[in-house]
Amino acid sequence: LLARESGEAERRNPRSKAAYERADHLFGRVPMTWMNKTAGAFPRYLATARGARVTDIDGHEYVDFCLGDTGAMAGHSPAPVAEAVRRRFTESGGATAMLPTEDAEWVGAELTRRFRLPRWSFSLTATDANRWAIRLARAVTGRPKILVNSYCYHGSVDESLIVVGPDGRGTARPGNVGAPCDVTLTSRVAEFNDLSQLEEQLAHGDVAAVLMEPALTNIGIVLPEPGYPAGVRELTRRYGTLLLIDETHTFSAGPGGCTAAWALEPDMLTIGKAIGGGVPAGAYGLSGELAERLLGRDDLDLVDMGGVGGTLAGNALSVAAMRATLEHVLTDEAFAHMVKLSERFEAGVRAGITAHGLPWSVSRLGARTEYRFARRAPRTGTESAAASDAELEDFLHLYLANRGILLTPFHNMALMCPDTTEQDVDAHTGVFADALSDLAG
Ligand code: PLP
Repeated sequence: LLARESGEAERRNPRSKAAYERADHLFGRVPMTWMNKTAGAFPRYLATARGARVTDIDGHEYVDFCLGDTGAMAGHSPAPVAEAVRRRFTESGGATAMLPTEDAEWVGAELTRRFRLPRWSFSLTATDANRWAIRLARAVTGRPKILVNSYCYHGSVDESLIVVGPDGRGTARPGNVGAPCDVTLTSRVAEFNDLSQLEEQLAHGDVAAVLMEPALTNIGIVLPEPGYPAGVRELTRRYGTLLLIDETHTFSAGPGGCTAAWALEPDMLTIGKAIGGGVPAGAYGLSGELAERLLGRDDLDLVDMGGVGGTLAGNALSVAAMRATLEHVLTDEAFAHMVKLSERFEAGVRAGITAHGLPWSVSRLGARTEYRFARRAPRTGTESAAASDAELEDFLHLYLANRGILLTPFHNMALMCPDTTEQDVDAHTGVFADALSDLAG
């Protein structure tokens, strides 16, 4: 079946295939996700993208549930963001003036309203927001290590490339590239949903911060069990460790991410991707207490070349895009619409799975739905990693793409944006059911 769908992709997309082969000597096999990570032998080349739809250079249209792996959760090129960027760049000018704009005040106040942290700074990516937050955590606590969950992903952040090995101890994530040192010197690791493992690690007293997603989203969706988020907060407080919540993907839970939806109380919070409405932007927030501790430190160079911040961070274009996204696109009303559609998407997937008696589970986090090839929803990253099946996943992704539907290439994940419609969701439900019938036949 996979070979049949690969052949169909070649037949449907000759221009994409040729473009890929032409550029292969420039980009192929170097670490470039957009070029290499795809179901089938080549990616479909992008021609246009608007709202929930993209077209490829072969002239096919797709309903896009990948949405830039959440970077386009606001939809592709939403009109208010396009207008704000146009105005800033062509009318006002000064995208990279290294001067603040008044938009920043609006964005800071809105981030405070949504995520309940009083102090903010900007970055261009979630990776950088995490790197800088980690540096601040070390500076404030004087401790060397960062603790993450096994099979997390927080960007290309050195400290996060650690997993729980088969012997139960922390070990370098298999295949990690160019580690600067033995990762156990900088990091500790615990399984998601395992408070006793977390406590055992924190008790060493050398962890500056726990960096975590409220729900794992990069190894399938792994939701927290009741009491886990509160347990993490209690343990981090008890052992003097900061809690750094990465909301980059879990922003799908609602206008204030899981932090607002579940009343979390992080010391620091990072966010990127969707917050710029498609324009590179990120932010990190600090609690009032943490900000005071930092600002009281005359020995730290927080504004020049001390290791946090970047020339383009908080540039006027990014900030204008964040304002337009938060003010006009990813609003409370938009999230209500997206969550409703995600529920409909989930129901469609469940119906297909049930009709065929498949041992698959489905998880949803607000506007984002995902299925996994395991009867029970995984409760840890390691469990979820064991429930993947690359061939089956490739078949489903190719089957859907050949019929005008894109999922994110890393998982069986589908995200809704404000422009997604019921018809889009139902189109997926139908094609998904056909794919399962094909598998069963
Ligand atoms: N944090 C989380 C939870 C992510 O999933 C990702 C990327 O997938 C990042 C951070 C890094 O984002 P970026 O690659 O845009 O820097």
